[in-house]
Amino acid sequence: MLADEILEMLSEEISKNEVNNYISQLKFNEKSSNSDEVTFTAPNDLLAKYIQTRFSDKIAYLYEVKTGIKPKVNIKSTKSKITTKFRDKDIDVKQIKTQSSLLNPSYTFENFVVGNSNQFAFISAKEAAKNPGKVYNPLFIYGSTGLGKTHLLHSIGNHCLDAEKTVIYVTSEQFMGDFIRNLENKTMPKFKEKYRNCDVLLIDDIQFFSKSEAIQEEFFHTFNELYDKKSQIVMSSDKPPKMLRSFEERLKSRFEWGLMADITPPELDTKIRIIKAKCDFDTIELNSDIIEYIATNMGDNIREIESAIININAFANIMRQEITLEFAKNVIRDQIKDRKENIDLESIIECVSKEMNIKPSEIKSKNKSKNIVEARRICIYLAKTLTPNSMPQLANHFGLKDHSAVSHNIRKINEIIKNDSYFKTRVEELKNKITSKE
Ligand code: ADP
Ligand code: MG
Repeated sequence: MLADEILEMLSEEISKNEVNNYISQLKFNEKSSNSDEVTFTAPNDLLAKYIQTRFSDKIAYLYEVKTGIKPKVNIKSTKSKITTKFRDKDIDVKQIKTQSSLLNPSYTFENFVVGNSNQFAFISAKEAAKNPGKVYNPLFIYGSTGLGKTHLLHSIGNHCLDAEKTVIYVTSEQFMGDFIRNLENKTMPKFKEKYRNCDVLLIDDIQFFSKSEAIQEEFFHTFNELYDKKSQIVMSSDKPPKMLRSFEERLKSRFEWGLMADITPPELDTKIRIIKAKCDFDTIELNSDIIEYIATNMGDNIREIESAIININAFANIMRQEITLEFAKNVIRDQIKDRKENIDLESIIECVSKEMNIKPSEIKSKNKSKNIVEARRICIYLAKTLTPNSMPQLANHFGLKDHSAVSHNIRKINEIIKNDSYFKTRVEELKNKITSKE
């Protein structure tokens, strides 16, 4: 059913935690839905209100991507009475508002925090926005999910809209959907006119493009015409052009004609600045301990970091609680646990071994050379921090006598971290590397 498909698409874009807490509670109400208006129900008023504010725009947007029509989305409660003691107005609606139009007006260059990891992509995007079609054409931005590619594409779009350019922003799925609809309705001239006459074409998540010959052919011609006219083309992808499997060679080589810019996982310091900026933007107050806790424990996907901040704030509002570190830890515990379950001990050993130039077999051996002991200790420390393994499980994996040997090793690392800031940064960087692997 379409409604299920839409919820599935939404689930792919948000954290597992949000899917479990909110989206999985929704039921489609077929009787009160038609093509202009769709209704879902949630088990109580509080949830309905929260989901309405937080996700209804996104749901409407996904319907538009899928069907071409943007419906009004209602989230109603199945119970008429509120089950908790607080009423709707207790939720601060402003703070959990999300995207409402195709170009998110808050995705701007000004709102983008720049660090080493994204500086090159940022500067390229800004230049392309200032001189569309002139300097970097096409511009190809790539990097893992949640690192700011869509934000940069929208920033280019918003900048060019202000300069009164015609801008089209589409995901590759939306482009394909549009193509198929126009083909079926025999309105291809309309499609061609739309895509071939813009000043700026922004295509997001190009890795989802279909292998279909007809679509590749159409995209090839769209690309060529725009390029010849000096219209700006910007694409984003999770991998560089060479690694895109679904494209013909002639297209891939064109993607490399202009400029390729990658975004890598942010360093701890950039992450902290991003969190601070998000808090300022949404007027959420978190103290520096909480900010550091989020930055070191939530991985590198900024979307997940944002959802952690929003959840902490929303729960504090709902429960009328002050946000302490303990409170924050409790709210995002599941999100962190989900992530931990995805990291295995071998990948930690592999990463440390590469960085410190010591063989994995040496790390797991009983060798007592100083640098091998240090690498082994770092592995054990990271394994305890990043995975749900117990002390005896770790003792077993690293060939140690028992759990007290494990805690001895962890204590040693904690001591060095306290006294040596260079060492601390090195361990942080290792942690970032391990958690950024998908
Ligand atoms: P991607 O498209 O690469 O998956 P997005 O652009 O959707 O990632 O970014 C996810 C979220 O993180 C967005 O809300 C975006 O605003 C935010 N974000 C990512 N990088 C930055 C940054 N450097 N500064 C501010 N916000 C960022
Ligand atoms: Mg994106």
